[in-house]
Amino acid sequence: MESYNPENALLQARREFGEHGGVAPSISRSATFTVMHPGTMPEIFSGRKGPEQGGCFLYSRHFNPTVDVLSRYLAAMEGTEAGICTASGMSAISCAIMQLCKSGDHIVASECIYGGSHALLKSLLPQMSIKTTFVDITDLEAVKAAITPDTKVIYTETMGNPTLRIADIPALSGIAHEKNIKLVVDNTFSPLIFTPKVLGADVVVYSLTKYINGASDLIAGAVCGDKSFILDLMDLHTGRVMLLGPTMDPRVAFDVVQRIPHLPIRMREHSRRGAAMAKMLKEMNVKVTYPGLPSHPQHELAGKLGNDGYGFGGILALDCGTRKKAEELMDVLQNEESFGMIAVSLGYFDTLISCSGSSTSSEIDIEEQQKMGLSPGLLRIALGFTGDLDFRLAQMKRAVKKVLST
Ligand code: PLP
Repeated sequence: MESYNPENALLQARREFGEHGGVAPSISRSATFTVMHPGTMPEIFSGRKGPEQGGCFLYSRHFNPTVDVLSRYLAAMEGTEAGICTASGMSAISCAIMQLCKSGDHIVASECIYGGSHALLKSLLPQMSIKTTFVDITDLEAVKAAITPDTKVIYTETMGNPTLRIADIPALSGIAHEKNIKLVVDNTFSPLIFTPKVLGADVVVYSLTKYINGASDLIAGAVCGDKSFILDLMDLHTGRVMLLGPTMDPRVAFDVVQRIPHLPIRMREHSRRGAAMAKMLKEMNVKVTYPGLPSHPQHELAGKLGNDGYGFGGILALDCGTRKKAEELMDVLQNEESFGMIAVSLGYFDTLISCSGSSTSSEIDIEEQQKMGLSPGLLRIALGFTGDLDFRLAQMKRAVKKVLST
């Protein structure tokens, strides 16, 4: 498979100057926009005229010039025709799925996904008669067997949260498209590393809260896909983003736009540290899962599907056996070694550590957690890039020796 270069693809987005030729784009904070000729208003409402068809912007829940800059950057990076930004990753996921599924439809989803997405599919959508069958997404026969005549969506994360299973997007795409099903992929853990659309996905969703923004100071999301799908989401009369209303604030869009140019540098450094830390822990006989380790069950697949030069990411799953041990290790790492912080989320420049089973995956029943390989002692370590790497390795080594070898 020919490698895709998302960094250079990003350069294809229209360059955006600020007012007065500013090198940074301007923030357009207006909630509503002036229509110069009364006849244009009905044309905008009927979808025949927007800013790109000689019309104008209308209202910032529909779309906003600054938010639109970010949407175009993301679409370029993802190799999709278009994108739309939302107020959170969860609203991107729920709007995309609810746009594709109506009452009576069925979804086949990976069992290994973020707890909030799992709860949406397992508990909320059935209240609207949209049912989901959860499967091991790496078992392609199980995926095929779960499909029913009502299946409209296959939903997965490229790198599953928190067990780091890798989905075979080209194979899933083949299965989905044979039956006219849409493949929706959450790529939050692995921007630039994987480009799901290029691998065959139809819709790519993101929590921008994580790596893409990188500063853990805002909540944001995005959906990237074909132009027709994005226009459906923002249709003034029926679009899920329009009607459910998870609007991104233009100031948030501006912040993310200013951080996208250094996303490649950040991702490479997260990955460099992930690889070094995983290797050291493996050598210490710690149960560590990392897609870059040859012992990872989908290591080869990850290498084959990944874009050249971005590595395997900055997240490690470390199985401490019991929740007590995991909590002890977090305590030593944060409070004795000053190695990261006990906090949910990921993609920050500092390390964030959480015990997934009792935090971000706590929506998932214990039996289901066991089935998806999530031990109660699993620590998700989202490595940052502050401090010297050797110093960080030494900190981790001391903490692991203290807690896990007793
Ligand atoms: N997708 C994944 C993989 C996540 O880990 C998260 C949050 O942790 C989300 C989506 C939800 O994103 P947000 O918190 O921006 O709504």
